Amino acid sequence: MMKNTNNAMSKEPEKGRIFIVSAPSGAGKTTLCRRLRDRFPDLRYSVSHTTRPPRPGETDGVDYYFISKEEFLAGVDSGRWAEWAVVHGNYYGTSVNFLTRCIRNGLDVLMDIDVQGGKQIMDKFPEAVGVFIMPPSMEVLEQRLIKRGQDKAESIQTRIVNAEQEIAEKEIYRYIIVNDNLESAAGELISLVESYRSGSHEN
Ligand code: ADP
Ligand code: 5GP
Repeated sequence: MMKNTNNAMSKEPEKGRIFIVSAPSGAGKTTLCRRLRDRFPDLRYSVSHTTRPPRPGETDGVDYYFISKEEFLAGVDSGRWAEWAVVHGNYYGTSVNFLTRCIRNGLDVLMDIDVQGGKQIMDKFPEAVGVFIMPPSMEVLEQRLIKRGQDKAESIQTRIVNAEQEIAEKEIYRYIIVNDNLESAAGELISLVESYRSGSHEN
């Protein structure tokens, strides 16, 4: 008897996709990711673990899982993180269990991580779609950081220095979006994700 290879039961289940969004601090990544999540509520947001203390308004388990340095480092030893990095003096990491479970179950994941983490994920998951958000200029970046009012002057300078290093590595990302006009940048990001999710992209 001929085997029916078109049988839906015999088909490999579709794997979830990974969308990585990275940007220098202040470029507008949080704002753009929020727009993306509003547009695609089924996109699973990868809630990172961090040793940074919560900022006012942040909720444990929603914005981040806030954990101790001891717990974080134990996680490094036990292979708990799919990627991890030290950013602005604090540890940040993504749960390998969360990521693999989503992919296996065909759920698309949005990761808001820095360039060090982006590199690690793209090495492990070459099909991950990396998007780098650029500020229109360093002057505008500094103005946005000042206007946001969350960081002290010294911390803003650290972020500017880090920004230059991150921008120097932007070519490892498949896409670069300049966040000048918010509506245009959000539209570009949404269209890009839409094209992958609707299957109009090959990979
Ligand atoms: P990030 O998450 O990259 O650090 P945020 O999303 O917090 O950046 O944005 C930094 C600041 O810039 C916020 O105050 C935000 O409202 C503002 N912002 C974001 N995108 C734009 C834009 N296109 N034009 C002007 N201001 C913006
Ligand atoms: P913030 O503390 O301002 O929320 O984030 C600081 C930086 O850490 C941002 O660039 C953010 O993308 C990055 N980040 C957040 N979570 C992770 C993570 O799990 N891994 C890595 N590598 N970076 C992260």
